[in-house]
Amino acid sequence: MAVPFTSKQTYIDEFNPKDYLQTYYVAGEGRLQGEWADFALRNLHETFTTGGVRGDTLLDFGTGPTIYQLLSACEVFDNIIVSDFVEQNRAEFQKWLKKDPDAFDWTHIIKFVCELEGNGEDWEKKAEKLRSKVKEVLKCDALKRNPYDPVVVPPVDCLLSCLCLEVACKDTNSFCEVLKNFQDLIKPGGHLLLLSGLNSTYYHVGKKCFTSMVAEKEDLERALNEAGYQIEKAVYTPRTDKTWMDVSDYQTHYFIHARKPN
Ligand code: SAH
Repeated sequence: MAVPFTSKQTYIDEFNPKDYLQTYYVAGEGRLQGEWADFALRNLHETFTTGGVRGDTLLDFGTGPTIYQLLSACEVFDNIIVSDFVEQNRAEFQKWLKKDPDAFDWTHIIKFVCELEGNGEDWEKKAEKLRSKVKEVLKCDALKRNPYDPVVVPPVDCLLSCLCLEVACKDTNSFCEVLKNFQDLIKPGGHLLLLSGLNSTYYHVGKKCFTSMVAEKEDLERALNEAGYQIEKAVYTPRTDKTWMDVSDYQTHYFIHARKPN
């Protein structure tokens, strides 16, 4: 029998940020701190350096309780707005911002990015820089026409979203609608960066299982074109570590850099 797609209420009631961080990002054993982090951080590093993506404001959509995706961006954006649907994720992010003793330890990831940038020793400065650039922590809902309703976020230079849209959208039509709505959040000529996994049907957070929309490369590119973006770059890298398919069954990592036309 088909499993029902995870509802928004389930995220509110059952998404546990501590379990998420423990499952995926804890040093040494987190499932995403290896291959995924390597893929995402290298692509983001390249995008914000030689890739030339920069500007005044970057909006991160579906931030969850994580900071890794912002470490390169904070070098070239003065303002970073983070956002998530779930209150407990926003609270967990705030803990890191405020250096709460209970905050997650991102040292291993921050050091990795500093090494990519050729500044291995300056990791504490990097953390401070990111903290100083995060100007707002907002509530968002991908499934609303204005995801920030009732707040109106002025259009930004870059919208980034990692591992979020496939878990918020039940099918490619919904995914395409969300991308269309994102047009209003991005300045003309601005950037959209999407990073996630292809062909995933589920992921676990601790013992709890959440669903994902199965997306193929073609679905993704069609949705972006239909929603009016120009694809500048698309990178697809097969997942090689299949030892934890029981935790999440995605097959391929993807990074897409698209632009809203001028
Ligand atoms: N960006 C983080 C977290 C991804 S986990 C990372 O890269 O690890 C998926 C996130 O999607 C969760 O934080 C969840 O709260 C968020 N999410 C789920 N449904 C959503 C919706 N309707 N709108 C916005 N975010 C949603």
